[in-house]
Amino acid sequence: MNSEYDIIIIGSGHAGCEASLASSRLGCKTLLITMSIDKIGFMSCNPAVGGLAKGQLVKEIDALGGQMAKATDVSCIQLRLLNTRKGPAVRSTRAQVDRQIYKTYMTSIVETQPNLSVKEGLVEKILVENNVAKGVVTSLNEEYFAKAVIITPGTFLNGLIHIGLEHHAGGRIGERHSERLAADLRKLGFKMGRLKTGTCARIDGRTINFEKLTAQYGDKEMPPFSFQTVRRQEKELPCYITYTNERTHDIIRANLNRSPLFTGIIKGTGVRYCPSIEDKIYRFPQRDRHHIFLEPEGLNTIEYYPNGISTSLPVDVQVKMINSIEGLENARITRPGYGIEYDFVDPTQLYPTLETKSIKGLYMAGQINGTTGYEEAAALGLMAGINAALSIKGKRPLVLDRSQAYIGVLIDDLVTKGTAEPYRMFTSRVEYRLLLREDNADWRLTPIGFEIGLIGDQRHRAVLMKRENIERELRKLRERGFEKILRRPGVTYKTLGYTEADPALTREEIAELEIEIKYEGFVKRQLNDIGRFKKIEKIRIPEIMDYAKVHGLSSEVREKLSGIKPINLGQASRISGVTPAAISILMVYLEKYRRS
Ligand SMILES: Cc1cc2nc3c(=O)[nH]c(=O)nc-3n(C[C@H](O)[C@H](O)[C@H](O)COP(=O)(O)OP(=O)(O)OC[C@H]3O[C@@H](n4cnc5c(N)ncnc54)[C@H](O)[C@@H]3O)c2cc1C
Repeated sequence: MNSEYDIIIIGSGHAGCEASLASSRLGCKTLLITMSIDKIGFMSCNPAVGGLAKGQLVKEIDALGGQMAKATDVSCIQLRLLNTRKGPAVRSTRAQVDRQIYKTYMTSIVETQPNLSVKEGLVEKILVENNVAKGVVTSLNEEYFAKAVIITPGTFLNGLIHIGLEHHAGGRIGERHSERLAADLRKLGFKMGRLKTGTCARIDGRTINFEKLTAQYGDKEMPPFSFQTVRRQEKELPCYITYTNERTHDIIRANLNRSPLFTGIIKGTGVRYCPSIEDKIYRFPQRDRHHIFLEPEGLNTIEYYPNGISTSLPVDVQVKMINSIEGLENARITRPGYGIEYDFVDPTQLYPTLETKSIKGLYMAGQINGTTGYEEAAALGLMAGINAALSIKGKRPLVLDRSQAYIGVLIDDLVTKGTAEPYRMFTSRVEYRLLLREDNADWRLTPIGFEIGLIGDQRHRAVLMKRENIERELRKLRERGFEKILRRPGVTYKTLGYTEADPALTREEIAELEIEIKYEGFVKRQLNDIGRFKKIEKIRIPEIMDYAKVHGLSSEVREKLSGIKPINLGQASRISGVTPAAISILMVYLEKYRRS
């Protein structure tokens, strides 16, 4: 059974799918080994893609040549633009999707991708020789060899599922966990921690009284998620809004002694910004109700996902709690909610390429890096796939910095600061968010995708053309003195009374043009900030840097720098505890080093 591949990817969740597609599309002979072929592209939790800051990640994945946005367009049953009342920097797209269609589409793309083989198997061991990854061994003792291995096991490493005071091993409900791979990673010396997440019960839609509830529809005329999709799936289903109430809260409070969270059984740290309903009731006792969005799971199923009431309480309490909610008085649960604890690997042990520092050719991506969310996982998977492939081809790695992409911020945060709780993306984490918008992700990243070989010539040219159209029109508006008028509140390109308006401009081009004029002052300021940021980011630190030789650094700073191994001075400055004084000392040292 010995086989030679360029790259092996373990796991076919959102990280594994993007990693294996990127690697094979970049010409590497790739093997995707996953526990169950039936679960390729499976959504563990809610039937939705995007949302605040996550929408930006999906657009960036798409602009670089990833698959997630296309899968979303094929399976989309509702699309909305969030934060429309706020500035363009924080607007994000969110899609409800049909989970089944999403999974089927992703499976077909993965299975028909040239250069990519798929095998079902449980990987238990990473083969390592002289600190270089050589391949993997499965539970059936099959050995597969490769030049690089990417691990994307999601919540499966030592996964422990909790429902009330009962618990059992599992990576997701109904699926086995991955115990030996977790033990092997520990044996290889990785520092690991324990995190926790959870999901809500699913409800039989035929038992929901929709007449009592407010329906929420998607936005009309939203452009598809992918820059490339011409027509997305158009059949729409509404979501419904309901609320918890005092009775729901009483039921939960009365049963906290049966909650694994409140009896100390769950030890892992949970998602701060997406707490379980029992957590919300405990932490916000002053609130008399909490929002619930009833989200359809798809076009061909009766199941609904009650977003907002994730729980690990016992099933009988889940039933009582749900039946206390308006519209759900007679609702029947099809699957219970549950909590899950799992192992993750401290991401400060990774380079910004997502390669591990201790084992060459070994990469990690997705939830194993301490993140939560499909979008974060997909972004990490894409970057790990790209970098493993570039490394094999002897090319320069692709590291996006904080001024280029949300993906850059995500990776920089993880590998520089690590995380003690499941990390999710927020717009507030992004310093230059006015420039890193969804609408211009193609202009920011498609040329990079083209340069590394993930994007074809035609698509690249279309992006250049789009930019040219915008710039031509911007110049015209400035020359004709219309710029100031367009800057006025309420005035749009269409209502400008500008007779030379270019009729061929697309809606997206007009939207981008308006943002660039209306927010010009802020944009200029951020561009100046980026100029300063880039200066320090450009000062590279050699991989073999010996911090013991840098006089004047405290032992704490030395220890942190040696541990994180920052690739440039900018990254060094973001390590907690590394002071501005230490950065000045390093800057002088690096200048001397460069000259000598
Ligand atoms: C119960 C639950 C609730 C969640 N709630 C939320 C939420 O509210 N919001 C949110 O944003 N995210 C949530 N998530 C997280 C979200 O599902 C993940 O962030 C995302 O799926 C991670 O993607 P991934 O590719 O890293 O891993 P996954 O999607 O988990 O995929 C892991 C893959 O690895 C495979 N695998 C594992 N071990 C092995 C092995 N040894 N050999 C071969 N294959 C292996 C698995 O079969 C699977 O295909 C939840 C997850 C769970 C399980």
